Amino acid sequence: MNKKLTILLLSCFAGLASCSRSARAEDTSFTAMNTYMTVKSYGKGAAAANERVRQEVERLESILSTTIESSDVYKINNSDVEEITVSAETAFLIERGADFYKMTGAAFNPALYPVIREWGFTTGEYKVPKAGRIQELLEFTDFSQVKMWDGNVTRPAGLQLDFGAIGKGYAGDKAIEILKNAGVESALLDFGGNIQVLGTKPDGSDWTVGIKNPWGGQPVAAVKLRDACMITSGGYERFFIGEDEKKYIHIFDSKTGRPVENDLESVTIICREGIYGDALSTSLFVMGLDKAIDFWQQRGLDFDFVIITKDRGLVYSASLENSISLLFDFDSVRLVE
Ligand code: AMP
Ligand code: MG
Repeated sequence: MNKKLTILLLSCFAGLASCSRSARAEDTSFTAMNTYMTVKSYGKGAAAANERVRQEVERLESILSTTIESSDVYKINNSDVEEITVSAETAFLIERGADFYKMTGAAFNPALYPVIREWGFTTGEYKVPKAGRIQELLEFTDFSQVKMWDGNVTRPAGLQLDFGAIGKGYAGDKAIEILKNAGVESALLDFGGNIQVLGTKPDGSDWTVGIKNPWGGQPVAAVKLRDACMITSGGYERFFIGEDEKKYIHIFDSKTGRPVENDLESVTIICREGIYGDALSTSLFVMGLDKAIDFWQQRGLDFDFVIITKDRGLVYSASLENSISLLFDFDSVRLVE
């Protein structure tokens, strides 16, 4: 055989062999829940499964949105009807919301909507409300007064819900379920910085996912994940600067009705379930460093955390030691046992 042809044939076979080893990624991107979302999955049927994920996230948005008038949440928030019948998804979020509310001592509170709106976070017309007005609105934020049975919800007049702190994590869990049921064994979801992975990378190695630099630039750390989620709440995500030059962020303290002011830049949670990670990233941010550490120590090992502080410090749970690599010159690094 002609030498040139032999080389050509050999390189073709090599190409085929590597093709069968490295599965092709199917990437789907869309905007839902005010978030740019991407789904990368591998394997037969991945493209169709991604499409089903998109449809499911859009369906969840139509149920949970605070602004779509036909949504369950809109009806709960705006209707005078005493008892609202809701879908199984809304019922689930109210039940889990109640668990998180109790578990975190109300650091997580999905009934802060009236307060958050008053500060302008729902419209972008930001303002610092008068102290008296905040006090008035806090009267309507007792989530324990939301009652539910057989899919019917009652709540005191004026109480309004917002699942902004857990909706994307929940949607991620649903997405992973859809991909799994479709036979996908390897996938990575990025729902606006909420990362959820199914299995490992197609070659069997862990996914490596970066933690955002709150001050801009390259990721400050990389974490290895398999069948897990990594969810971050950051003060840098949404905020405004008041006339007093102070920074007011989108994460609220339900005791004061004000944006959280503490020494944290971001809280990242690594765990198995998206809704749990999403609830905890917001909650531990509200708690602040010391209470967040206490909370982690009391809960045992069902999640890991990585906290970045304003003074360029890094604090993380020691069980991450073998899966985290630091990529930033922190002024201090502390492992918590
Ligand atoms: P996340 O980005 O997951 O931390 O969620 C923040 C969003 O959740 C905000 O934009 C609000 O809509 C809502 N939120 C703010 N503070 C709280 C809180 N303490 N508990 C529950 N939801 C909150
Ligand atoms: Mg959250």
